[in-house]
Amino acid sequence: MYGKSATTKITICLLVAALGLVITCYAQKSSGPWKVHDRERPCPPVVTPPQQFGQPPSDAIILFDGKDTSQWEIDRQEGGDIKWKIENGYMEIAKKAGGIRTKKSFGNCQLHIEWWVPADVDPKVTDQSRSNSGVFLMGRYEIQVLDSYTADNYKDNRTYADGQASGIYGQYPPLVNACRKGGEWQSYDIGFLRPLFDDKGSCIRKARVTVIHNGVVVHNNVELQGATAHKAIAKYSPHGEAPISLQDHGNPVRFRNIWIRELPEQPYSVTE
Ligand code: MG
Repeated sequence: MYGKSATTKITICLLVAALGLVITCYAQKSSGPWKVHDRERPCPPVVTPPQQFGQPPSDAIILFDGKDTSQWEIDRQEGGDIKWKIENGYMEIAKKAGGIRTKKSFGNCQLHIEWWVPADVDPKVTDQSRSNSGVFLMGRYEIQVLDSYTADNYKDNRTYADGQASGIYGQYPPLVNACRKGGEWQSYDIGFLRPLFDDKGSCIRKARVTVIHNGVVVHNNVELQGATAHKAIAKYSPHGEAPISLQDHGNPVRFRNIWIRELPEQPYSVTE
């Protein structure tokens, strides 16, 4: 009935249609929702974990490896090369060098960062002046960096609780004080879920954060009240993805081994 070439064309058309159907079905299926124990549910990507804790897994973006500062710029409108001191595998806040921020913006993420405050700070320098810096998620939500080590249950070194090291500044003190002494390196591992806003700018999902300080959970999936504020109630203002920034509070705090993993939104939960 058909010639040979017409038969070939029909066969190709049928194959293309079938392939399209398969792709469409897969696309619909791959986004869920899923039944309990659904074997069609895609398995998560494979990531090679690090050999040593604190080191980046295979899918991390290295933000600072001890030398390369190309992921960073001065935290001011026009940006520019950072002026912090880079030596011996760390970067140190230099006098009047200003805060810094990542060139790339981030939303949901896992962030690892190590920090150090000096051991030889004058004991008369206290409270918020004692080696202050901060890690700002999305440039707005500060996890405080401060020398909050106390050898005498805060009689020797005290500030307001929601402003001490690993506190979510102005909102939540850490669950415990897990600080090491000045002169010793410390770490934060942070899990962050970004806030979401509707078209009118209203916050429809507040940010959430988990912080592990020196291996100790100090915030367990807490809901942030808004962007960090000083002596004011935190409020949300709408924003998109934004850089991570590190604060220059006028003290020579050091940072090293900074890496980040970008995280997707949590997938669907299962259905009947
Ligand atoms: Mg600070």
